[in-house]
Amino acid sequence: MLKLDFHPTGRHFLQIPGPSPVPDRILRAMSYPTIDHRGPEFAVLGLKVLADIQKIFQTTQPVMIYPASGTGAWEAALVNTLNAGDHVLMYETGHFASLWIKLATNLGFKPEVVALPGTDNGVPASWRKGVQAQLIEERLRADSGHSIKAVCVVHNETSTGVTSDIAAVRKAIDAVGHPALLLVDTISGLACADYQHDAWGVDVSISGSQKGLMLPPGISFNALSVKAIEASKKSTYPRAFWGWSENIEMNKTGYWPSTPNTNLLYALSEACDMLLAQGLGSVFARHQRWAQGVRAAVNAWGLQIQCADASVHSPVLTGVMMPDGVDADAVRKIIYERFDCSLGTGLGKVKGRMFRIGHLGDCNDLTLMAALSGCEMGLKLAGVKLSGSGVQAAMDHFSNHA
Ligand SMILES: *Cc1c(COP(=O)(O)O)cnc(C)c1O
Repeated sequence: MLKLDFHPTGRHFLQIPGPSPVPDRILRAMSYPTIDHRGPEFAVLGLKVLADIQKIFQTTQPVMIYPASGTGAWEAALVNTLNAGDHVLMYETGHFASLWIKLATNLGFKPEVVALPGTDNGVPASWRKGVQAQLIEERLRADSGHSIKAVCVVHNETSTGVTSDIAAVRKAIDAVGHPALLLVDTISGLACADYQHDAWGVDVSISGSQKGLMLPPGISFNALSVKAIEASKKSTYPRAFWGWSENIEMNKTGYWPSTPNTNLLYALSEACDMLLAQGLGSVFARHQRWAQGVRAAVNAWGLQIQCADASVHSPVLTGVMMPDGVDADAVRKIIYERFDCSLGTGLGKVKGRMFRIGHLGDCNDLTLMAALSGCEMGLKLAGVKLSGSGVQAAMDHFSNHA
């Protein structure tokens, strides 16, 4: 039985990197009455969100909208473009990349995993840096028979707080003239970090609703390219629900083959209005600035940031590594129970080694300051030795950077 009085007063601080806090304006938009998904008004909504989401992906190509979580959109990207048993090159940047690799394996594809060797402070080295495009280039150069059909990378690795340079991956593929498709997971990157589907030459971009788009969980996306659509027409992999072709046809008039998530589409429309009114450039700058403030706090505490490459720190979340002997989940538990703040747990290979602070969705300088206060108090209560006040450092950062 759900304890409805669990958060008795004030707002719970949902400081995990997705689902992110949803603006009230979006929650209200979701409460409009559900309408006939085959009726005339629906097409107005359908055409609007399909056009809006293209602007968010920075594409003029079709974008598929599924009533599913991001995992479904991962599957859709693979089953539409590949053939049974195809060899794919997948880069392991962290836990989400690993889950995508597992999903591809379960579908019968043959992933070859690229990763940096070794460890860095007890963490796989590949989980502290972004995609190293030269490793992809070297591997594709050796594949003169073009057995590799797709290169799969994660744009913003939500388990580590590292972004990857997608344009560099495209360049690596083009440098060797390899025909592999480029499939990119930007489930947590979209609408937080700059993402240019067309300009970066991505064939399928995969995203979800509950991260940068500030929506509840429940819808996900595939942005396509001409080459990806061509591949989907030739592919013989069995697909039904995830198939693009029927969607593409029906979307032209603002409808879907099966019942779309009507109330989440109201929310999507509202979110796109908010993001596009602010302007994507300002949205990206806002997340960068928050991330800088949070990193200032972590540095002042004297704790390590999981991302070991300063050029690719995530604007979406920050991974905070614990000193040896400190269980990150025990710290999280104190912060949750005492201060009503949820932080992201360490996933997979970094379980217990780190926690994650999300700085996305409906937040602002003061909500972030509150979350950092909760972290600082919790770290002290857990007996973690801090070298200074992160709260003070973040306040200084936010007040000195307009
Ligand atoms: C959240 C996330 C996923 C998983 O999406 P679900 O909506 O949980 O299925 C995959 N990849 C990344 C990078 C994510 O952040």
